[in-house]
Amino acid sequence: MSRRVVVLGSVNTDLVLRCSQMPLPGQTVHGRDFQTLPGGKGANQAVAAARLGASVSFIGCVGDDAFGHNARRILAAEGMDTQHLHSISGASTGVAMILVDDAAQNCIVLDAGANAALSIAQVDAAKATIQDAGLLICQLECPLPAVQHGIALAHAAGVPVLLNPAPTQALPPELLAQVDVLVPNETEAAALLQLAPGAAFDATAAADRLRTLGPPTVIITLGAHGVQLACDGSNVHLEAPVVQAVDTTGAGDTFIGAYAAAWCGGASMTAAIAYAQQAAAISVTRAGAQAAMPRSSELPLKVSGRP
Ligand code: ADP
Repeated sequence: MSRRVVVLGSVNTDLVLRCSQMPLPGQTVHGRDFQTLPGGKGANQAVAAARLGASVSFIGCVGDDAFGHNARRILAAEGMDTQHLHSISGASTGVAMILVDDAAQNCIVLDAGANAALSIAQVDAAKATIQDAGLLICQLECPLPAVQHGIALAHAAGVPVLLNPAPTQALPPELLAQVDVLVPNETEAAALLQLAPGAAFDATAAADRLRTLGPPTVIITLGAHGVQLACDGSNVHLEAPVVQAVDTTGAGDTFIGAYAAAWCGGASMTAAIAYAQQAAAISVTRAGAQAAMPRSSELPLKVSGRP
């Protein structure tokens, strides 16, 4: 029987504008192809899981503004429970203003907006939802005390916790001790291990070292190279399907949402990773983040029950 995926995380609106050249301070340049796209790591991961058939509850905050109303409508349209998605009056919904030039370089200004308002009390109000989950997923785009409270509630109830440590920040050892599955990408893994910038990255060694910080399972995502999985004394590299990538935005979010959908649907960890790698591989062949996330009918693998 499927268990519910609970996502505690961010909701953003990405405002994307293309230009031939980046404007210098004080300069005005012509732009084109303006797009307003739903984003935020929390919302992205929740959409990926819901689209693959998982029952998903979302805990987070949007502003009481047009972007917030739209984000709520989008999450609800994916079939999600948004009972714990709060509208914060006087706050704006989180936004990322993204300029992309013709050399595909980008400049991004992020305003966490209402995401910064997620409180311990709001997370506490979702206690029953967290305690009933098959998996709690968190990232680090919401205030750390709120994230930490959600993780503590899940841990105390025996609900497994998946943490995507993005964007990277120093984490208290007691938080990492309550995480069951840590899923960083290569950059986040290097930052958590305080590796020198530019130092060679050894995924096997990094996964082992991350386990010593507390999480019994570490999955380092390695882009087109797949993942490194360390758990139960084993440390293995699992290849990604070979595809022609056109846009890798949101690959990690698709991987995490799909992993959660499969795991909560009863798949073993390695089966859930294979499923997640297929979903992420499909997503990179299409443009956008949420727009590129697949439905289960598109995946050759199906979720099968855990032994
Ligand atoms: P993030 O988006 O967080 O940087 P990654 O780039 O590591 O995360 O990608 C997450 C997962 O998405 C990878 O582990 C892999 O399964 C899949 N993926 C990413 N890029 C590709 C690619 N070019 N081809 C196939 N799969 C990919």
